[in-house]
Amino acid sequence: MNTLRDMLEEKAPSFSFEFFPPKTDAAARTLWHTIRRVEALAPTFVSVTYGAGGSSRDRTVEVTKRIAAETTLRPVAHLTAVGHSVAELRHIIGQYADAGVRDILAVRGDPPGDPNAPWIPHPDGFTHAHQLVRLVKESGAFSVGVAAFPERHPRSRDWDSDISHFVAKCRAGADYAITQMFFHVEDYLRLRDKVSAAGCTTPIIPEIMPATDVRQISRFAALSGAAFPEHLAHRLDAVRDDPAEGHRIGVEYATAMAERLLAEGAPGLHYITLNRSTATLEIHRNVQGADRARHGLAARR
Ligand code: FAD
Repeated sequence: MNTLRDMLEEKAPSFSFEFFPPKTDAAARTLWHTIRRVEALAPTFVSVTYGAGGSSRDRTVEVTKRIAAETTLRPVAHLTAVGHSVAELRHIIGQYADAGVRDILAVRGDPPGDPNAPWIPHPDGFTHAHQLVRLVKESGAFSVGVAAFPERHPRSRDWDSDISHFVAKCRAGADYAITQMFFHVEDYLRLRDKVSAAGCTTPIIPEIMPATDVRQISRFAALSGAAFPEHLAHRLDAVRDDPAEGHRIGVEYATAMAERLLAEGAPGLHYITLNRSTATLEIHRNVQGADRARHGLAARR
């Protein structure tokens, strides 16, 4: 099977969607409805996040295996080092190999409960993501992705150390990276330029988060450390009781960001869906429409 890096090089720009493992039967139905809608679009891949602990971790494995078995989609399983011994990580990687899942996004994870609490490694586990990248690569013919941070990782001392640790993950064998959510295109461009100046050519796929609800987005932005544009916060706040207008504003902003990122040469777009499809698919349709219009125009010239 081609690695995702090969696919990104052959068929750029890629487009892909992120899901999380559902907690209830009703949530599972919503997710599978979304998965079927997304499947019809033949994305490059879809990814399933890995929970901070407990049963949600088993659900990640179940959902990812089911996507591999029952759909035509290419699933990428997120895997974190937090709370796992190396033996446990090997066991999970083995389960994916058995199920024919060949794509793993190797991230370190944050301490469960308070993501800003001091990081304490498992006594028989890993301290940083590059070790997990190496383990997955040694375990078989896996294509491995890593995390990238347009506003640099909140725990990084400075840009230089952030970039050199990112490059170390790539040198450990990462085929591509996906960013944390962000809301200023310049942040992505700055990261990409710094990585490239460090001599690293690993493709970095920007993550697109539709910001349609000011309450939800403030929560996510606080958790991820992403700076949320004040003008967008004001616009969304003014319509906090009008979900349709919030939706329209969020889709419009994310569409403009996505179009600019592609125009700047981003290798693809990774959409956070929150297991629902409406806003994401609208943004995707807008971006595809603009792309078709551009190419149609070019053909007529
Ligand atoms: P690392 O690369 O290990 O970096 C963490 C910090 O350590 C950084 O500051 C880095 O500069 C520093 N560092 C790295 N190497 C060294 C070194 N050798 N010496 C000293 N310092 C070093 N979390 C989940 O729990 N589940 C998920 O499914 C999940 N999916 C994600 C998907 C994406 C696309 C992204 C961007 C993040 C995701 N996360 C997920 C969050 C992620 O686990 C956290 O952001 C975590 O804090 C960092 O993970 P990392 O892989 O970048 O870690």
